[in-house]
Amino acid sequence: MITLTDVSKTYSGGVTALDTVRLDIARGELLAIVGPSGSGKSTMLHILGTLDKPTTGTVHLDGWDTGALPDARLSALRARTVGFVFQQFHLAPGTSARDNVADGLLYTGLRPVERRRRAAEVLGRVGLGHRLDHEPHELSGGERQRVAIARAVAGRPALLLADEPTGALDSAAGAGVMRLLRDLHAAGTTVVIITHDRELAAGLPRQVRMRDGRIVEDTGSRSGTALPGVVR
Ligand code: ADP
Repeated sequence: MITLTDVSKTYSGGVTALDTVRLDIARGELLAIVGPSGSGKSTMLHILGTLDKPTTGTVHLDGWDTGALPDARLSALRARTVGFVFQQFHLAPGTSARDNVADGLLYTGLRPVERRRRAAEVLGRVGLGHRLDHEPHELSGGERQRVAIARAVAGRPALLLADEPTGALDSAAGAGVMRLLRDLHAAGTTVVIITHDRELAAGLPRQVRMRDGRIVEDTGSRSGTALPGVVR
């Protein structure tokens, strides 16, 4: 699904947030990227999602060498391949759950009526079929995150990247969001969850542990495509 080869990222100011990272994520995996604050997890998510480019190294997404693609082609690849979920939901205020999800389908070229139909269907799948016309401020935190997940997956991306998706939720709502992410994985989506919650990570099939911009442990994929054990 995605391969990072010797990826380093140095921000202006000289901070090296990623240092010679190699990571291979197969289609259909469910994995956690864990590590303390400042270890490079968010930078990793931005690079995996092609929102940011590495300073050196290469990123292959769905078979494409992303560094070799013109910006417009890269945006199109990202739009059809990757869905994003963030800790703070990032929903548009004053906009119904249904339109928040439908607006995520703008790039698809689907007609508005079809986008809204698809939005209602996906919201039904995440258990919010009875909340279509609610605006974000009329929803609980857990419901807002489920809207955000519905928006992320409405375009049927192969890869879902979630940055601390349960970080702003109480434990019951967080457990509901994790169940939903597991369901999506069971249905074939590749799911990468960034978290500093060790317990949450320990429940997933693969854990990639980061420290100081490096991968210090990778338990490997169940399919055996990555080497298990400490890689440094
Ligand atoms: P994490 O998500 O694990 O907390 P980050 O990827 O956010 O880690 O940050 C890794 C390192 O890079 C930190 O030292 C952070 O201060 C630095 N960093 C992150 N974003 C930027 C930026 N835009 N400009 C400069 N330094 C940054």
